[in-house]
Amino acid sequence: MQEQNNEQQDYEPKNSLVLQEKGVLLAKHEIVSRSMVKNLIREAIEGMKNAYTPYSHFHVGSALLTTKQKVYTGCNIENASYSPTNCAERTAFFKAISEGERDFSAIAIVGGKNGVLSEFVPPCGMCRQVIREFVDPKSFLVILARSEEDYLIFFLEELLPLSFGPENL
Ligand SMILES: [Zn+2]
Repeated sequence: MQEQNNEQQDYEPKNSLVLQEKGVLLAKHEIVSRSMVKNLIREAIEGMKNAYTPYSHFHVGSALLTTKQKVYTGCNIENASYSPTNCAERTAFFKAISEGERDFSAIAIVGGKNGVLSEFVPPCGMCRQVIREFVDPKSFLVILARSEEDYLIFFLEELLPLSFGPENL
């Protein structure tokens, strides 16, 4: 709580924040609060427990936040013929889309060999493109976490610059 109070004091107007690393982080937390980031990471870790990974043993979990604050979790789902394997990020998106959701704020992603969170797990290229279909890359946040306290936050645009989306057609 003390940490949050300090951040409030350091706060500056949003449009002046883009030039500084800390400012960019604060701007991102204006979209999704620190407490929601932790909540999403927790949910992603929960989602990871359902990972079906008999081949790679690399477990991944995700938690997708809608603009109405609803959370959809996902896990990776492997397949004996490999190609049909689905990533945790797409699982969460497809669950949400199939439930009628269309507006999203952020996704948290966790993972590691045998479910041990040792490194950040960035989304694969295919998932980045699927995410791109449904979000504004300038404001949608991708949260990569090793724990509830240890995370990185990116705008999708940072992970997928010059992207091709629905408005290009
Ligand atoms: Zn993927």
